This record gives sequence, C-alpha cells and structure tokens, in this order.
Amino acid sequence: MPASSTPDYVVTGATVVSHDGRHRHDIAVADGKVLAVGDGLAADGVPTLDATGLLVLPGLVDMHVHLREPGMTEKEDFASGTRAAAAGGVTTVVDMPNTKPPVATAERYRDKLELVRGKAYVDFGLYGMLDHDNAEEIAGMAELGAMGFKLFMGQTTGDNRCPNDAAIFRGLEAAAAADLVVGVHAENDHLLRMFGDRLRESGRKDPRAHLEGRPAFVEVEAVTRIITMATEAGTKLHIHHLSTAAGLNRVRDLRAQGHRVTIETLVAHLFLDDSAYDDYGNLIKLNPPIRPAADVEALWAGIARGDVDIIATDHAPHTAEEQAEPDVWQAYGGFIGVETMLPLLLTAAARGRLTIEDIVRLCCYRPAQRWSIASKGQLAPGFDADFVLVDPTVESTLDAAGLHSKHTVTPYHGWPLTGSVLATYLRGQLVYEKGDIIGEPAGRQVMPARRPATAAS
Ligand SMILES: [Zn+2]
Repeated sequence: MPASSTPDYVVTGATVVSHDGRHRHDIAVADGKVLAVGDGLAADGVPTLDATGLLVLPGLVDMHVHLREPGMTEKEDFASGTRAAAAGGVTTVVDMPNTKPPVATAERYRDKLELVRGKAYVDFGLYGMLDHDNAEEIAGMAELGAMGFKLFMGQTTGDNRCPNDAAIFRGLEAAAAADLVVGVHAENDHLLRMFGDRLRESGRKDPRAHLEGRPAFVEVEAVTRIITMATEAGTKLHIHHLSTAAGLNRVRDLRAQGHRVTIETLVAHLFLDDSAYDDYGNLIKLNPPIRPAADVEALWAGIARGDVDIIATDHAPHTAEEQAEPDVWQAYGGFIGVETMLPLLLTAAARGRLTIEDIVRLCCYRPAQRWSIASKGQLAPGFDADFVLVDPTVESTLDAAGLHSKHTVTPYHGWPLTGSVLATYLRGQLVYEKGDIIGEPAGRQVMPARRPATAAS
C-alpha cells in the first residue's frame, strides 16, 4: 500500500454539502488533499476530527477582493485581509490589481508576488490589469500565473485611466491568446463623469447622489459593448458585480443570442437596498451603487433561475476615518466583506432565500470551474482539503469588533445571524477556530490551469 493511501486524519459525523447535494460522509485527508469521501473511512490508529451535527463545506473561493498591497496598506494588507478570509471560511482569495502602482506589467506582477510571499493565511491568486496601453504585457503576466485580467470600463479606487474601445479590444485579443478570463467593471466612464459633474454642480453632496449619478443604463450600455467585443475577440468574459435588473435582462438577451459570459453579484448588492443610504451614509458608497429594492429582488431571482454564476464580496477596505467621510464626492467606494459573506449567506439560507448547496455552487464550485482552478471548489478525491465546519443553526449577532480586517467598519454590525463558521481548514491544516487565527501564514499562490500552447504559438 503506498504511503499516500493512509489518511493523516478522517473527518467523521458531518454532512458534506456540495454544489449538487448533501450526504452524511466521512472525509479522509492526506498530505493536504482529500484522499477519499465516503462511509466508514475511520480506521484504527488514524486520528479523527469529530464533526457530528455540523456541515462541511468546501472552502469558499472569493474571486473579488482588494487587499490593498502594494501602496494602500493603511487600509488593509495581505496578512490582515487573509486572516479575515480564514475567519469567514474563505480559503482562496483572488486579489484585484488596482493598487499603487497598478499591476499592469509583468515586472510589477513579479514584484507583487515577491511582496506578498509568506504573508497570506489562505491561498491566493492575483489578477493583472488590462489598461489603456498594456496588451503586450498580458502574455508575461499570464506566464507568472495571472488568474485573469481586470478591466475597469468605469473609474474606481486608484489612478486608473479607463481604456478606450480600441485598447480594450487589443487587451481582449491578448487575453484570448493567453486563454485567460477578463473580468470587467462594466459602467460607461464618460457617462459616469457627466452625471457626476451635473450633480456636483447642482450642489448635491448627500450619499444618494452617488446612486443617481450611476443610472442603470450606464451598466446596460457597458455590458452590451463588452459582451459584443469579447465575443468577437474570442475572450472568456466575466462581468463583475452586475447590479441592476436591466443589466441582468440584457445579459439574458445576449446569452439567448449565443453570447457566452459569466456574471457575478456582490453580497452587498443582495443584502442592502437604497433605503440603507439613510442608515449608513457613505459607508455603503459602492461602485456600482447600492440599488433600489426592485434591482435587489431581480438579482435574487437571477440566482434562483441560475442566471447568476458566482457571488463575491468586492472586499474593499478603507480606514475608519475614510469611511466616515460625509461628502459623497470625497468618500471612497467599497467596504469590507470577505469575513461576513458566508455568515450572511447562511442566514439567507436559513430564511429560505437560497440553499446551502446554492452557496457552494456560487462561492466554491463555479468560481473554481470558471477560472480553471483545478484543485479548489469541491471536496472530492485529489482536491485540496480546504473546508469549513459550519453550524447552520446557531443564532448570533454580527459584531464588528470581532472581525479580523485592519478596520472593521461594516454596515452589517448588529445584524442577526443564523449559522456560524466554527473552523476553517486550508490544505488539511486548521487555520481558524472559534474566533482565533491558528498558526503561521501558509497561503500559496493559486494559478489557473491553462490550455497548453499550440506548436504554432
Ligand atoms: Zn472591486
């Protein structure tokens, strides 16, 4: 018998939830991998981890976080952001490139890998930027393991000039040649600036002006344009944080015509509607903005219909001082979320909004599948033993003071929760248990499995 067929330990007594069902099974873990899933795996001399009465989920894969390294570490860094992830049952995070400087060249990509090495408490991938003039850098970033590329059609945190359509198309072609996904912030930048100027000139400074300056058609236009271009370029396309009913309808229409695209909704766009501007002010300024309740309902309906492929957080930390800025035009977009995603989704599941299988599909299985992360997203033999022990019944109240980010300001403070993350395991090792981060940072870079280059290329 080869050594690898002897488990290091066996998880017993739990209900294992996958993207398509749940079963009472044991999980045998060896060398950080799932060795077997089935019944009666416990054996003499093999340690057991008794998870009786609990659910075991694959570790979540959050495809949209901003950990702020390099250049903005007063807001968050790789250590603090990945501690928050571990505490939230998220075992893989993929970090956005709109840092200072932006990660838009192979050299900067290499610098960032060097910078974050040894700091992460969970596994991580890094996106590169697709900017106004870097199509020739795409292949080099791909060689270094870029998970994909982020394209900002609309302006956001950092000094990122939005590319024109010609630059976008060149970038889409380069990403297609590298067989990597381009993820898009789909809002029309010229329209955003025009509406923003109008509101500013009219004297508006209140939080809701942010919503009024980013009407739904600005998203619809950008979604239509980028899907049209990506189909022509043959690029794998993903729309980050789709936020409107009209945007979702447009995606449905274009899919019906044969266009292929995946879409993401954010936890914030599912749990907050525009009534929250009165309660939270600029803390909930987000790009795209928190929308009216009809849009929120449309996104939930999209989840129920299977239109939505993934849920992500857009974990976008700022300092507590920045989050308190009263002038909407000076305030930053985004807030933390990687630690609160699973508790909020479990709470939604307890209320019948979705199933826990849906959570696994949207936050584990589909992200790993879409970005070709071969070792993640499932608890099956050969996959990484990344898993979360969840008690789906325990009632609690979300307390910002218990969160692990550098600044723990969150609109969800005080919200009632049903369901709790008890422990998180990364490649078989305990990294979080009942409030505490365990051990040293052991996170590794995760890369997409890419189509082998053809002889001609
Ligand atoms: Zn983002």
